[in-house]
Amino acid sequence: MNYFLDSEADQKTTDFKDGKAYGRVDDVEVLDEQSGSILVSYNAILKYDLHECGIQRRNNYRLNARLNSFQNNPYEKAVIFRVEIETTLKKEGFKDLDALERSYADSWFNIEILKHGRGAGDAKLYTNIFRPPIDAHLSFTKIYPRHQKKLNDEFSLATADTISHLELEQEISRRTPSAEYLAVYDVGQGNANALISSDYEECPVIYFDMGCGVGSHASTTPANLTFCTCNNPLVILSHWDKDHWAGALLSKSKTLPLTWVVPRQQLDAAHKSFAHEIIAAGGRLLVLDMPQKNMGASTLSNGQHLKFALGEGTTRNDSGIVLAIENPDVQFPSSWLLTGDCSYRFFPKSFQYSAPIAVVAPHHGGITKSNNIAPSPAPFNGYNRLIYSYGPDNKFRTTQHPTPSSINIHKLAGWDMGSWNSAPGHSTSTGNIRATSKHSPSPFERGGVMVGWEPIPVLPKVCVLGAPISKH
Ligand SMILES: [Zn+2]
Ligand SMILES: [Zn+2]
Repeated sequence: MNYFLDSEADQKTTDFKDGKAYGRVDDVEVLDEQSGSILVSYNAILKYDLHECGIQRRNNYRLNARLNSFQNNPYEKAVIFRVEIETTLKKEGFKDLDALERSYADSWFNIEILKHGRGAGDAKLYTNIFRPPIDAHLSFTKIYPRHQKKLNDEFSLATADTISHLELEQEISRRTPSAEYLAVYDVGQGNANALISSDYEECPVIYFDMGCGVGSHASTTPANLTFCTCNNPLVILSHWDKDHWAGALLSKSKTLPLTWVVPRQQLDAAHKSFAHEIIAAGGRLLVLDMPQKNMGASTLSNGQHLKFALGEGTTRNDSGIVLAIENPDVQFPSSWLLTGDCSYRFFPKSFQYSAPIAVVAPHHGGITKSNNIAPSPAPFNGYNRLIYSYGPDNKFRTTQHPTPSSINIHKLAGWDMGSWNSAPGHSTSTGNIRATSKHSPSPFERGGVMVGWEPIPVLPKVCVLGAPISKH
């Protein structure tokens, strides 16, 4: 396994060689709307290493080889690292966030490490997503479009196996007799959810994301986080952000050999390495190939529906897979809604679902625009759950999830936000809210949340080989 992804590797000092790397923008996070401060993250690979192991080398050209045919991760030995740098819109030369996002999304940069070590500069380098960073002073120059294509080709999913939405409908129906419970695990600043069939079956049949806190949020991941794989569950990945898949690396011998259904998104060295590690471990990686405006709908044996669609946005968050599980009760049709990090406003029109009893709030409650209108809760018996998955004290400078903007859009939609109206994140259970943790002061009340179709008087047993659930 590449050192960048290996949670068990001994700490080592990275040799950055000549310090030159190719980096792709991984994420732009707003830290403070007022001051325009942002956190830009890049995933990078040393140029020297890419020239040694890339799949477009003249003497070992494998660009057109099926992804499945790779026995090992070709980038296994490469130095892959993440850069986080705090900057402002102004410093980067942009007037507004949209303009910066348009320019930075899908963009590759030449990154040069000019200096690294304690106090060397304002950038943070992560050579392993589970370990603390190194300070560094870097220079960035945008790469010509002509050269970007070659990099995008290198790290694309073009030769991956695919699954059509019709095939995925069948696969879900085949694997899932029913969905009696939805488990939202405490994974720190990240998200992992599972569907559990019945009271008599403790082990999940489908996971929707298997993330955890990484990078600057690595410390929010609970010790000994693991996932139950007794049922050989299907894993549906909402999108390629690490906080939605990195948890799998903590029990990799169990989770990587599973079947992973993933969205077709442009990858970089870090993501592509993870994709290769799934295949190298004997897992299957299937790219969901479906028209962006469509919806898939599986019928489970008990008549419930599992619906899925792709977000229509352009960013990775807003183009991911979203899920709704519907209970076809004639009197009280209702649903659970799983959003990944996709804003509601990017759900395709075709993605129709009954009023939700439960929603896993998009993007851990990150900053959202007010035109991102949340669905209103199902009005039946007062049982509603708006679930927030985030790490305790996940604060980065002024921003902490859940944010007031996320509280506002849900309040406007009719969710009872309880004491979060004035103090987001300061309890794990208030109004309709359930959260995987709270913020300081401790105790952080950590633990997963179980959701049913009606109030759960007693928590059902969960598999001891998986993550614990303590709330409902
Ligand atoms: Zn189990
Ligand atoms: Zn996320």
